[in-house]
Amino acid sequence: MALVSGLVALVPAIASIRRALGRSFRSRCCFDAGAAILFFGALAQQPALQSDAYQAIQELAALGYRIPSAEAPLRVFPALTDTEFSGRHAGAWRPGSIYLRDRTQTDFPARAYLRHELFHEASYRSCNRRLPEWAEEMAAMRFSGELAGREQEPQPNTTELEDLISHIRQNSPLNQRDRDVLGRLALHYPWPAEICQVPETLSRLLGAPFAAAGSGYVLANLISGRILETGGDIATPMPPGSLLKIPYAAALNQANPQVLADELAASDTGQLLLRRAAFRPERYRLLLSPIKQQSLTQQAPVTERDWRAYLGERGGDGGFALEASLPELVLTLRAALLSQPDYFKGLVRNGANPNSTLVGINSADKRTFRELKALTKTGTVSSSDGQPLIGHLMLAWPAEHPVYLAVFRQSGSSGAAIAAKAAGVLRDWQRRFPPRYAAVRVHLLSATDPASWQADSDCPELETGSARFNLCGTFYVTSTARGSRSERQVSGILQQSAAGSAKVLETDADSYADAVMAAEAQQLKGEAREALRAVIVWNGSRGGHRHPESRSLCDTTHCMVFLGEDVRGPSRGGHTTDPKLLGLLDELAANRDWLPFANGGAQHWQRQIPIAELQRLFAEAHILEIRRERRKDGALYVRLVYADNDETVSCEIFRNTLKLPSCPDSIQAADNQSWLFQGIGAGHGEGLSIETASELAEAGRSAEQILRDAYAK
Ligand SMILES: [Zn+2]
Ligand SMILES: [Zn+2]
Repeated sequence: MALVSGLVALVPAIASIRRALGRSFRSRCCFDAGAAILFFGALAQQPALQSDAYQAIQELAALGYRIPSAEAPLRVFPALTDTEFSGRHAGAWRPGSIYLRDRTQTDFPARAYLRHELFHEASYRSCNRRLPEWAEEMAAMRFSGELAGREQEPQPNTTELEDLISHIRQNSPLNQRDRDVLGRLALHYPWPAEICQVPETLSRLLGAPFAAAGSGYVLANLISGRILETGGDIATPMPPGSLLKIPYAAALNQANPQVLADELAASDTGQLLLRRAAFRPERYRLLLSPIKQQSLTQQAPVTERDWRAYLGERGGDGGFALEASLPELVLTLRAALLSQPDYFKGLVRNGANPNSTLVGINSADKRTFRELKALTKTGTVSSSDGQPLIGHLMLAWPAEHPVYLAVFRQSGSSGAAIAAKAAGVLRDWQRRFPPRYAAVRVHLLSATDPASWQADSDCPELETGSARFNLCGTFYVTSTARGSRSERQVSGILQQSAAGSAKVLETDADSYADAVMAAEAQQLKGEAREALRAVIVWNGSRGGHRHPESRSLCDTTHCMVFLGEDVRGPSRGGHTTDPKLLGLLDELAANRDWLPFANGGAQHWQRQIPIAELQRLFAEAHILEIRRERRKDGALYVRLVYADNDETVSCEIFRNTLKLPSCPDSIQAADNQSWLFQGIGAGHGEGLSIETASELAEAGRSAEQILRDAYAK
């Protein structure tokens, strides 16, 4: 809107143009009111209404508001249809124009609703959008006189207030009930004398759109769902906007992946809606199941509005039926990406395609996304007048087999506008989270009969080909095999081999390292722990050559002992491995494809265990024979012969059951009453010795020095 003062000099010129155009203007007393407010149609014949309007703007001017002028007039039209109005609202306003319903209500006279809309115009000209919508509405009610006679009405109750607060928070258009509640509140709160101000107490009570939304981000491992790093506010649930197009697309039972990915990169709601015949609502509901605060999928979509809400737009009431925290969004997006990986590969073209949402971002940031080979998708929630309220940006990389998933969120920003900030963080992650050390494939219970154990989860599961995963990331493995831990917890994707025997878990390297540390070197601390952890990640992430048929590691001493994560232990997440140490190991390994480590020590040990104790530990009435067995791949097993059958357990499980320091080198019947087990130290004496590492750390050596000591040969 033009500045009134700056235009004073132009008045004669405009007046002469008007004369030239042959239009006539009535003049009023004190100022050129006839030119300031122009009445059209039937309203031009209502002098009483016009006089009310002139009085109202003089009152507004006296209060300090900028009012319409001949240079920047206000136009008042009779409304031809009712579509502009909600409830008993009899006027509608847009900057510079008022539309009045040609109708009078005794309880709400035309004079009041004209004053109401005039207030909106004056506020627009004076307050520079400083007033939130609810506050301007209350101020308009106070000014119009429409609250007269309502002074005895009760204060709103809790439910009414909560409804109003939720509409304000989501920036939904105010409905008639909201207006009613605002009217009653306006009667009970003193209003500041200064214009464009809101009572402080009311501001605190009612809040502002998405006021709680700060900025935040989450980096997770896409395979396991483990959260690797977070920043800012990740907990507050917020509507994710067009990020919902990812689960929507994943719920399509057929699509041309190239075309679909381009529609997603362009965030093309219209094209995506044309695919609704291929949409599976039950799959969409399943993908959204980690998100607690949602009523979106309670009913199948019927109207166009319902469908648009499924793609992240506002629903029929102008609000959002789904709000997600960032960790919830991560789980939903992870499941969507894992369930239809081909649909999303083309998102790597976001920023390159001319109509994609990231096409306008800085070219250095684009280069960062391209170097990572990141799949990207934006999501923006805007106000009714197009102001961005919350932006989201999702990234998953590298495109050919994504192992990382990040979601950024920022208030007052569009999704694309977050790209600059996200690219800065990504340049750091590029260094700290190398994708080639992100995932581990491990053959679960590799020495145990596959029929003796199973994996379950307590959240919805999905299958794609031979892969099985679930919406929370974690499986519970229960085993009836003797000597094995009866319950364990693993995270990631379970793959069934074609032969049906091997069950391979693909998990993240840090969860794997936590579990191996717990099984192999629980007591190790400080720099020695950092050093061994790096060795475990290095071996684990590139150890598929150990068992080429399943491209995986086994979970016994032959590779590294992996008994899963501790069910009762601290929650997942937290520690990550230092990438500098991984780089050092690349260098130290030279041609080696495996870096051995062992408990070390050269101490001879022996244990004599009574038969009765052995029979109790293995829950067998008779143990007739115990024998060591070495298999072709080098793995050690122990065969136990009972009265009517026998069984073979991995040496690792055997020694854990008996709490022996290492796998015994010799097993002998000592007498009729006991067995004698003998061994040396705790391993093969090659590579990193856990005992030596511990001593070096105590002597003040760094993890780097410990690794050099172990492998620089
Ligand atoms: Zn209003
Ligand atoms: Zn093995």
